[in-house]
Amino acid sequence: MKNLVVIGSGVMGRGIAYVSAVGGFKTTLVDISQEQLANAEKEINNIFERGLARKKLTFTEMEESKSRLQYSVSLAQHLKEADLVIEAVPEVMDIKKNIFEVIDQHASETCCFATNTSTMSPTEIGSYTKRPDKVIAMHFFNPVHKMPLVEIIKGLETSDETAEAIRRAAEQMGKETVVINEFPGFVTSRISALVGNEAFYMLQEGVGTPEEIDKAIKLGLNYPMGPFELGDLVGLDTRLNNLNYLHSKLGEKYRPAPLLEQYVKAGRLGRKSGRGVYDY
Ligand code: NAD
Repeated sequence: MKNLVVIGSGVMGRGIAYVSAVGGFKTTLVDISQEQLANAEKEINNIFERGLARKKLTFTEMEESKSRLQYSVSLAQHLKEADLVIEAVPEVMDIKKNIFEVIDQHASETCCFATNTSTMSPTEIGSYTKRPDKVIAMHFFNPVHKMPLVEIIKGLETSDETAEAIRRAAEQMGKETVVINEFPGFVTSRISALVGNEAFYMLQEGVGTPEEIDKAIKLGLNYPMGPFELGDLVGLDTRLNNLNYLHSKLGEKYRPAPLLEQYVKAGRLGRKSGRGVYDY
C-alpha cells in the first residue's frame, strides 16, 4: 500500500492523516467542509512542531512527511490511485453508507476500505459495496498520534488477506494492533461507552461534581483520564451517537443518560466546541 485517502478531517481524521503521512504513505485528507480542512491542517502542523520540539522526529522527516500530505474537498478525483481508504465521518450509518457507495464506484478493484467507526458493523458497511471481503474496521484512538493501539475488526465477509494488509498498514503507522471479530462495540467502545454514560448518570443524580467524579476515577481506579475529561476529548455528540447505536443493538444498559442528551442539544460538545462538561 502506498496511497491513502482519509475521509473526514475532524477529531480523528486529522490524526489518522498525520500518522499515515509520518508512516510513509502518500496521504490525502478529504472533507466536505473547507473550514474543517483548514483547521485540520493547522492542527496537524502544530503536532509536527511539537513532535520536532520533543525530538519525536527530525526536521527532514517532518518536511518529507508534510510533502506526502495533501488536503482536498473533492473526493472522487483521489480515489482512482488509492490503495486504502479510511473513513472517519460522523458515527451515523446513513452518512457512512453514502460514502461507501461512492468510494466503491470510483476506487480501483484492489483498494481496501476501512471505517474508523467506534461501534458500527463492518459487515453492514461492507454490504453497501461490491467488495465486502475488502471492508474492515480500523479503530484508532484519540489522540491518534499518541495512542498506541489500532483495534482491527473483521466483518463476516472480511478476508484474512485484508485483515493482514490492514495490520501491516497500522504497524507502518507505528501502532500496535489487535485483530478481533465483529460484535457491537468491539472490545474498547463496549467498555468505554458504559463508563462514560455511568459518569453522566452520577452527575445527573448529584453524586458529585465533574471534578470530584473524575478525580475519584483517576486516583481510585488508576484511569489516566477521568470519564468527563475523556468525554470532552472524544466529543459528547460522538459519545451520544455511540450510545444510541449500542442501545439499539445491546439493550437497556446502554440507554444514554438524559443529561448527556441535554449537553449535546445545548451544543456543549466538548473540546471541539469550546465547552462540554468543562470550559476550554
Ligand atoms: P468529527 O465530528 O470530529 O468529524 C467528522 C468530520 O467528517 C467533520 O470534519 C465533517 O465535516 C466530516 N464529514 C461529514 N460528512 C462528510 C462527508 N460526506 N464527506 C467528507 N467528510 C464529511 O468526528 P470524529 O470524532 O472524528 O469521529 C469520526 C469517526 O471516528 C466516528 O465514526 C467516530 O465514532 C469514530 N471515532 C471517534 C473517536 C473520538 O474520540 N472522537 C475515537 C475513535 C473513533
